[in-house]
Amino acid sequence: MSTLEIRDLQVSVKLPEGELKPILAGVNLTVKAGETHAIMGPNGSGKSTLAYSIAGHPKYEVTGGTVTLDGQDVLSMSVDERARAGLFLAMQYPVEVPGVSVANFLRTAKTAVDGEAPKLRTWAAELRTAMERLHMDPAFAQRNVNEGFSGGEKKRHEIVQLELLKPKVAVLDETDSGLDIDALRVVSEGVNRVRATGETGLLLITHYTRILRYIQPDFVHVFVAGRIVEEGGPELAEKLEAEGYERYLAGAGPAT
Ligand code: ADP
Ligand code: MG
Ligand code: MG
Repeated sequence: MSTLEIRDLQVSVKLPEGELKPILAGVNLTVKAGETHAIMGPNGSGKSTLAYSIAGHPKYEVTGGTVTLDGQDVLSMSVDERARAGLFLAMQYPVEVPGVSVANFLRTAKTAVDGEAPKLRTWAAELRTAMERLHMDPAFAQRNVNEGFSGGEKKRHEIVQLELLKPKVAVLDETDSGLDIDALRVVSEGVNRVRATGETGLLLITHYTRILRYIQPDFVHVFVAGRIVEEGGPELAEKLEAEGYERYLAGAGPAT
């Protein structure tokens, strides 16, 4: 069983002038395969910074702490190595990949993660099935990655990747943002299928409790001013829905 362990993680963002602005102030979190965790917090609290740091985004500098996957040091790995080690990050703002079709992108990603190309015949069927389950038009496979994708198409594309790549741990940053209710349901069903395999640890990062009506987390972590300030079960999400983040912010200094 795979385990992602984050210990006392401190991260600064690199500002254009070269200065470092501290964002993460000591994050502790353990995500095991088969577990679903929700990180919930107000805007600007550093949730995306946590996701990008795990993914190895060059704009974020780790100034302290550790991240390991099954005991392996994630922070010393390149972005590609992290993906091969079994980490998956769905970006809050996915980038366009001009001239690369969805079909080619997914096959390349699968090849990189598995270390060998998927068998052509079974792969075509697997891709088709994965897309059908997310109610995606087969023609979508020939579109260029993220070029002119609607919010819902981007999210479905993320979940297709998730289902095909079968990562050990997946970090989904604001997967619910910009989705209408039908798309939210389809995307949530995809996440729940991955969850049901019991082989992937899921870290859902969200500002709103909306998605948690469709995906019941095992653990909820409240994230404020760069750290986890409260932890509990699904009932904590309901409390946040009712009370908001106000109570936590009062003790956290001015919101950034
Ligand atoms: P969240 O995802 O919780 O909304 P973020 O991680 O996006 O929070 O941002 C946390 C803080 O770090 C915010 O104050 C934000 O303005 C700042 N920040 C994040 N990325 C950058 C950046 N590239 N340049 C400057 N400030 C940044
Ligand atoms: Mg934000
Ligand atoms: Mg964010």
